[in-house]
Amino acid sequence: MQETPEVFQKIVPCPACKGDSLYASTNPYRPFCSARCKALDLGAWASEEFRMEASNLTTDTEDQ
Ligand SMILES: [Zn+2]
Repeated sequence: MQETPEVFQKIVPCPACKGDSLYASTNPYRPFCSARCKALDLGAWASEEFRMEASNLTTDTEDQ
């Protein structure tokens, strides 16, 4: 039978920079490779939401 290693380690593509990211319990920023990439992604997500909110405002026409 296969035993699960205590410390799992896997290299995954970083969602932000597409570089090698260590997906391990020792990497608190997983699946990102670094704190900077995690912040970058969060920033993109925030601006995306802001954009959606803005377009919501433009489509929200009140003709009453
Ligand atoms: Zn990265």
